[in-house]
Amino acid sequence: MATVGSRPVVVDWDGTIADIVSAWLARWNREHPDRRIRLGQVRDYDLRRCVGDEAAEHFYRAIGDPRLYEESSPMPGALATLAGWVRDGVPFVLATATVDPGVLMAKRVWLRRHASDVATAVEIVPVLSGSKADLGGIALIDDNPAEWATWARVRAGFPVATPPWPYTQSAPPSVLRAPWPRLDRWARAIVSSSRG
Ligand SMILES: [Mg+2]
Repeated sequence: MATVGSRPVVVDWDGTIADIVSAWLARWNREHPDRRIRLGQVRDYDLRRCVGDEAAEHFYRAIGDPRLYEESSPMPGALATLAGWVRDGVPFVLATATVDPGVLMAKRVWLRRHASDVATAVEIVPVLSGSKADLGGIALIDDNPAEWATWARVRAGFPVATPPWPYTQSAPPSVLRAPWPRLDRWARAIVSSSRG
């Protein structure tokens, strides 16, 4: 696995800077008007546990479809934060487990469309196996509870944060669960304290 220099903030993509959840929900609800699902029902990262097998499989198919990115909005404040980090020299990388070349291209196009200054500056790190813990970052922002657990195991007290989804409500107290403007301040404080 690749590692990154300058101890960047590692930022996840799906569900962290891109709201693929709402894009998928809109698709599901269009196709299943009799079985609509509200965002508040998505209470578990493992969708099978909260919305059932059929909807979960629909979701996993959708995230393999590059067109889902055209339908996805940025998370509020996420790309403005990253643009500010580019401007101010806050080191960060975008990490994604996506391996499908079509989906990866759709993500790059999406980023260029919504934040061209970020797209030209940022390193995109494919995490093909293992954890984002192995990237050598200084902090992690990720909506996946499995990643929080890994980072906690690898390095007790490591700074981890997540956007405030219904499915991140069970985050332990050690994980900051907050909207992007607060994640911005949190990450900047970590980077500036590391620089002494
Ligand atoms: Mg994610």
